[in-house]
Formats: sequence, structure tokens, C-alpha cells
Amino acid sequence: MPCFSGMSQEDTDAFRQGGVDAYGNSPERMKSDGTTPCRCCLKLIEAGSVRLVLAYLPFGELQRDAETGPIFLCGNDCEAVVSS
Ligand SMILES: [Zn+2]
Repeated sequence: MPCFSGMSQEDTDAFRQGGVDAYGNSPERMKSDGTTPCRCCLKLIEAGSVRLVLAYLPFGELQRDAETGPIFLCGNDCEAVVSS
């Protein structure tokens, strides 16, 4: 059983619909080169398909371990990996 989770389906869908990232920008849409994983399904985003790039603050608030970083999401629907 995996002990890790991807971004929730709800948050991923919000970004796909143009929701703003940690810096107040809508995700950038670009062509995938096949080398970056999706933060939702945790699989490599297929080369040639659309990927979203955005600044993400995973903890929702500033604290010692919070770093805002660029992340990638599949531009099209994918299934979130959520451990129980
Ligand atoms: Zn994905």
C-alpha cells in the first residue's frame, strides 16, 4: 500500500479550469517533453500532450518546511493517487 498521495482531484480540476497558483497566476499550458511527472496521477506526462506548469505551496500556509515550487499536471483528465 503506497504511503504517499498526489494532489487531490478537486485541486487538480480547479487548476485545469484556470484557478490561480501560489503566486496568483493561472497555470501555463505547454507541450510535455515526457520527462516530468504529474503531481496528481504521479505518472510521467506523455510526450507531446499538454501539461500545466504552476507554482504550488503544498501546505497551504507558510511554515518551516513549506517551499513553493514549480509542479506539473496532466492537461487532460487523469486519476488522482490518494492513499488511505
Ligand atoms: Zn496526471
